[in-house]
Amino acid sequence: MNRRKFLNLSALTAPLLLSKNAIAHSAQQKNKPIVISTWDSGMPVNAAAWKILEKNGSALDAVEAGAIHIENDINCCVGLGGYPDRDGIVTLDACIMDHNANCGAVAGIERIKHPISVARKVMEKTPHVILVGNGAQQFALENGFTLESAALSTDAKNAYAEWIKKNEYKPVSNIERKQNGPFAPNFFEDGTPNHDTMGLIAMDIKNNLSGAVTTSGMAYKVHGRVGDSPIIGAGLFVDNEFGAATSSGTGEEVIRICGTHLVVEFMRQGYSPELACKKAVERIVKRDREKAKTFQVGFLAMNKKGQFGAYAIQKGFVFSVKSTNENKIYDSKFLI
Ligand code: ASP
Repeated sequence: MNRRKFLNLSALTAPLLLSKNAIAHSAQQKNKPIVISTWDSGMPVNAAAWKILEKNGSALDAVEAGAIHIENDINCCVGLGGYPDRDGIVTLDACIMDHNANCGAVAGIERIKHPISVARKVMEKTPHVILVGNGAQQFALENGFTLESAALSTDAKNAYAEWIKKNEYKPVSNIERKQNGPFAPNFFEDGTPNHDTMGLIAMDIKNNLSGAVTTSGMAYKVHGRVGDSPIIGAGLFVDNEFGAATSSGTGEEVIRICGTHLVVEFMRQGYSPELACKKAVERIVKRDREKAKTFQVGFLAMNKKGQFGAYAIQKGFVFSVKSTNENKIYDSKFLI
């Protein structure tokens, strides 16, 4: 390498090295324990996780407890109270990952109240990572979970009855995605997003990170569709050396860029959680800015110092934080 090349390279890498040093410098002042979660519905979820963290419990137990809390809420868009697919069936996705890269997930599971706990059982009791559909349900029943009613919650039933009026069941392939269309509607007519996926990340007193995601997925999806939420590296990724990330929004777009894995890799390169999330959002938007205006993706991340940050494509993504210092909801920054 000649001197000019070396100097050019140094100029390029200098900010990176600086920010890495900055991280190393303040690594002593860790913000822990701490739990962060997607959306404002994360406040009670964080409170449930905090009960474990404040007693010096593990991040893994904390994120599971948080997810269980919201799965218990029949009025929430997560868990069995969530909106159904276009056949009127609620199918649930969940995953969990710990500080040793142990992970487990279920996708398209029906009539099981706590998919997050089934995901943890997949992680702890099988050599596999993901179980889907009937197999996931069968595994859950074999492990002591009970079969719940297939009835929709009142809210979901009413919403589905409205939706079906305009969107009769038509198995069409390659249909163009459009708002309120039969595929992946991202916003309801009043402008509220139709997704509420709960993704949470915790760091415990031992500096260990874990994460969990639970969702009923995108409303009115094709039966059998799996989003980003139960996919390790898309909806959730934990690397105990550098940080963890989770996502909410249009899962297909997150899967296309291995979203949360990408966010964690940016943190590994020295970016702050917020900048890492921003760079992943830019990766999606860069490909087709006009299309990106029609959907939402938000990333949420935490590094090993307990610093956190988020970034979304559009306005509207919020996240909740609980630590010894604070208990609040933040607005995410956005790109478009
Ligand atoms: N990411 C979820 C999915 O694609 C939706 C959401 O975030 O609400 O299923």
